[in-house]
Amino acid sequence: MSQRMRGSQPLIVMSEDAQQVKDRDAQEYNIAAARAVAEAVRSTLGPKGMDKMLVDSMGSVTVTNDGVTILTEMDIDNPTAEMIVEVAETQEDEAGDGTTTAVAVTGELLKNAQDLLEQDIHPTAIIKGYHLASERARQEVDDIAEEIDTSDEEILRRIAETSMTGKGSEFNKGLFSELVVDAIGHVTVETDEGDDIVDLEFLKIETQTGQSTEQSELLAGAVIDKDPVHDDMPRIVEDAKIMLINESIEVEEADVDTEVSVSDPEQLQKFLDQEEDQLRRKVEQIKDTGANVVFCQKGIDDLAQHFLAREGILAVRRTKKSDVEFLKEVLGARIVSDLDDASADDLGSGSITRDISDDMFYVEGENGHGVTLLLRGSTDHVVDELERSINDALDVVAQTVSDGRALPGGGAVETEVARRLRDYADSVSGREQLAVESFADSLELVPRVLAENGGLDSIDTLVDLRAAHEDGQVRAGLNVHTGDIEDTFESGVIEPAHAKEQAIASATEAANLVLKIDDIIAAGDLSTGGDDDMDDMGGMGGMGGMGGMGGMM
Ligand code: ADP
Ligand code: MG
Repeated sequence: MSQRMRGSQPLIVMSEDAQQVKDRDAQEYNIAAARAVAEAVRSTLGPKGMDKMLVDSMGSVTVTNDGVTILTEMDIDNPTAEMIVEVAETQEDEAGDGTTTAVAVTGELLKNAQDLLEQDIHPTAIIKGYHLASERARQEVDDIAEEIDTSDEEILRRIAETSMTGKGSEFNKGLFSELVVDAIGHVTVETDEGDDIVDLEFLKIETQTGQSTEQSELLAGAVIDKDPVHDDMPRIVEDAKIMLINESIEVEEADVDTEVSVSDPEQLQKFLDQEEDQLRRKVEQIKDTGANVVFCQKGIDDLAQHFLAREGILAVRRTKKSDVEFLKEVLGARIVSDLDDASADDLGSGSITRDISDDMFYVEGENGHGVTLLLRGSTDHVVDELERSINDALDVVAQTVSDGRALPGGGAVETEVARRLRDYADSVSGREQLAVESFADSLELVPRVLAENGGLDSIDTLVDLRAAHEDGQVRAGLNVHTGDIEDTFESGVIEPAHAKEQAIASATEAANLVLKIDDIIAAGDLSTGGDDDMDDMGGMGGMGGMGGMGGMM
């Protein structure tokens, strides 16, 4: 490598270890890396997608079907591959679902770009064509999208179910879609303009292992997985006046480090009495506000625990900050940060109950709002995957409620948009036209992979789908369970429009970012860039392994 630089660019001074890869080599290298990532998640797409088991360097195991989880846990150590992981992360942040689609389409856009590069089409033409196609595709998605009645719970449940298919929640999707839609309903508020907005701050997910997933439930208020600090405290407080406090109920440390040296027993006793008085006063202050329950974010001194128990006050220490903040919403309370200023106004009213089998407090507020989705499952793996899939479903339903647009799933949109893009391509001049066509082909990856993962013939499926769309059936998609081409909106495979638009936008941006690079200058040796732990990706790090990549796709 260094030879190449010596001749033409004598001014660049790089270390002996440095490597430079230019032009087509750089593009090929990057495309291979990006495609390897896309390949890694493709088999999880759709309801018949398989799960991945990820084992990290500490040996801890995650079993998931969730695109973004797979990619973030994979510990990828290749700069280009990391850019693709960012696509998944952006998609997750912006839309909450559709991560696998976004990454798989990115990979396909790059694969098709490689074919164009091989036909000597300049990367800038491809980039421009992809950009045009992406804009147009999003317009078409909007055109295909159905305006839905966001109070129609039936449709919202279908949207939740579509996002959950293939995930841990699928077997009880009836129950979970109902829980999700119910939960969102509880935290939806109408603005003065009459728009619905969903405030997910008022919704908390709690997980509990040991029971079956069907025991999951939606609860009004909060669930606090904590024990009282003292055995003599009440477990159930029906008429609760609850104080939330984020300072410790302990002896105040002197500001400066003072050393107390005690010479005689009397002095020691005096000192201890002083401490006791201080704690007694704090408990007195709590009692004076009328509080009979305290959730403290910090510690509670043993002696204070004893005083509180004697007053019949239920106290919990080291409550998680997020729990305290959620309790504030649930109770409509204020968080006390200094007991000297605490008053009855700070308290929240409600009730505290406790389920013996769960060992958790249920806190219900009188004036606040907020609901908890308590997810249960036999083991941590089950609950974790359930939580991921419920999170996706919540995001998707929340978004649909705010956005009001939905799409037919099962590859219907992708096939229709591809068809329309091919028409549109005719109006695009120059080589960009070929890029627009490649973009259309790339979108059709979605129905192809859905079929493939469902054990169906992907070519036959695509042919049938295209024919249906040529015939004007805009909502014709694949039902992976029967293999039939049908109106998927009608049959209840429904997706939110926003997530699809976002997936198209982020896939295009990522593909174009990769295509724009024509020069890789690495401080170290590129061939050791791959992660040793990952055989799949190992070959990608080295330029020598490039030939092998083609076989994988
Ligand atoms: P992503 O991470 O992109 O959301 P998923 O694994 O959740 O990936 O798969 C989403 C895809 O599966 C969408 O294209 C959706 O339309 C499709 N899909 C969901 N349910 C069905 C179904 N019953 N039949 C066909 N396709 C489905
Ligand atoms: Mg999904």
